[in-house]
Amino acid sequence: MQITVDMNLCESHGQCVFAAPEIFSFDDEDRLLYEAAPDDALLGQARKAAAVCPVRAVTVSPAAS
Ligand code: SF4
Repeated sequence: MQITVDMNLCESHGQCVFAAPEIFSFDDEDRLLYEAAPDDALLGQARKAAAVCPVRAVTVSPAAS
């Protein structure tokens, strides 16, 4: 799968980090880091992160085959 985060929308609330800690994290300066192409086993987490993001900045798409 492919994850994209629109950093123009992201307000660093961190809900995605709580919902999917294996994909999203913050660096030492509270900037969002994320795995752009995580394993499909994490799809549930990724969808949850997209659903809880208050500004809808997270997009989850199937991996290009
Ligand atoms: S939940 Fe949305 S706004 Fe908050 S850090 Fe994640 S991507 Fe950014």
